[in-house]
Parts: sequence; C-alpha cells; structure tokens
Amino acid sequence: MSEPVVEIRHLNVDYPTRIGVVRAVDDVSLTIERGEVLGLVGESGCGKSTLGMALLRLLRPPGRIAGGQVFFNGRNLLELGEEEKRLLRGERISMVFQDPMTCLNPLQRVSDHLVETIRTHRPEVSKKEARAQAAELIDRLGIMTERLDDYPHQLSGGMRQRVMIGLALALNADLIIADEPTTSLDVIVEAQFLELLRELQQQFNLTILLITHNIGVVAELADRVAVMYAAKLVELGDVYPLFDAPLHPYTRGLLRSVPNIRLTDDDLEIMSGVPPDLYNPPPGCRFHPRCAQVMDRCRLEEPPFREVQPGRSVACWLY
Ligand code: SF4
Repeated sequence: MSEPVVEIRHLNVDYPTRIGVVRAVDDVSLTIERGEVLGLVGESGCGKSTLGMALLRLLRPPGRIAGGQVFFNGRNLLELGEEEKRLLRGERISMVFQDPMTCLNPLQRVSDHLVETIRTHRPEVSKKEARAQAAELIDRLGIMTERLDDYPHQLSGGMRQRVMIGLALALNADLIIADEPTTSLDVIVEAQFLELLRELQQQFNLTILLITHNIGVVAELADRVAVMYAAKLVELGDVYPLFDAPLHPYTRGLLRSVPNIRLTDDDLEIMSGVPPDLYNPPPGCRFHPRCAQVMDRCRLEEPPFREVQPGRSVACWLY
C-alpha cells in the first residue's frame, strides 16, 4: 500500500512587495509517496523552487505561507516550533541544490561533513567508526577514498553533488529535495550523476522531489510528474503516460519544445508568448493568452484541477 511522506493541501505562498502581493504558489495540492521520485517541472518563475523551499520552511523573507497545510510523515509542518523545524531540516529532509557550495562549509573537509552528519544522526557511533563509514560511503558514490580529506573546493562539481547525496544517505533522510541538481554539470557528468542517483534511489528506496526545468532529467529519474504554470499545478500523472500523451496544452507545448532524436525539425516548436506577470495574472485559465485551443469559457472561468483519468489530473476545460 502506498504511504505518503509528504501531503500538501491547498498550499499558498505569498511575496508581499511595495507594489502588491505576488502569489508564487497558488492552491497547490499533491502527495509524494515513500520510495517515489516526483518530478516538478515548469518554466523559471513558475513557483516550483518556492514550493520546495516552503516544504523546508526556508522561504526567503518576505515570502510567507499564506494558507494550506503541509504534512510530513503525518505531522503538520506549519505547526512546528523553531527547534522542531531545525531538527526536521537537519535530519529528515535533505536538500541537494544546483550549487553544492551553498550547502558545504568551505572550511570543512569532506570527512568532517560526513562524520559530523553520521554522529548527529547516531551519537553512539565513535569518530573512528563514523570515519570508516564515511570512507565506505564515498567509495559507493564513486569517489576515491583518498579524497575523503579534501576540502569542497578541491572536488569537481559532480563530486560535490555526490557528497550532497552522501550526506542525505548518512542521515537516512526520509525526503531528498533536489533543486536543479544537474544544471551546473556538463552533459557527461550529468549522465553519470543521474545513473548513480537512479541506482541509489532503487537500492535505498529513496523518496525524491526532483525540481527541474529539464524534461530529460525528469524522464531519466521520475516515476510521476507534476507540471506547474504561473504558480498553479496544471497536470499530474505517471511519467510515461504523461510524456506519451500530455493532456494540458501547456504540457504539450513544453514537451514539443524539447529537442529529441525522435522529433523532426517540423515537430519541434517553440511555445509562443511568455508566462504572465504574477502581480496581475490573467482571469480564467492563466494559460489562455498562449493557448491555441482557447475557448470563451477559458477567458472567464478558472478550470479546476481534477482527476480526469485514473492517476491523471489536469486543470483544463478541454477535459
Ligand atoms: Fe487552453 Fe482553455 Fe485548457 Fe486553458 S482551459 S489550457 S485556455 S483549453
């Protein structure tokens, strides 16, 4: 039976500014099951990274959660005190960012990061034993054990990302939030990293929220895909059925704009228009100014996000 690690219900995130309030995440509901990789995709500024930061309760001020609920292992994250939030971030949820240098202390060796993490999680483990476990871990991650005492700046970008995954494994984290984890890597290192991540995910039954604009990365790793447009969820479903037959016109446009060896030049399309200004989003369906299938109703009424096929939800009046 599936077991949700994360359950988000009608989440709203606001950024108040001098000229008005931007709702960066608007009425988003979704679950992440234990052992699944959920890909969260959409163009820059659609709210996907804000959603990840809201899960960690790490929104940059003046960002704030303006409504909804977020359950993590059954507990409402929005009701936790500061100390509980800190422990949760440190022990149960791990984050892998585009630039690992933002998370790794440049003054600490790789061994220090890993030993400290192992011993925070299991204080009964001696320093010597934790170091042996750290060496075993980086070996499993494809980093030579001689690099254990390197500083982060001495490692390549790909190795640093592997160390971030190692920290998540050392913690035995219930959820890994990976935000654009391969953006800074070149194509070959990216492929190796994705291969490793897939192996580790299967081996340890990891639960991953994979936030990316890169559809190829989602195709490699995700079990399900959630598509965001202008702060809203517009489509959600299993990765292969969704990629084979996208329902929402925005998802179709997103997939057609990705170069693919199966597509001819004629199939490849650049989506026209730009995402709306979230200070003043268009009425009705937010995609209507860019949609080739727009109907009168779309300009006036907002389509509800609802299940239209088993396991497939979409927000569009065509269904
Ligand atoms: Fe296009 Fe209308 Fe569907 Fe929006 S609701 S995506 S405008 S068809």
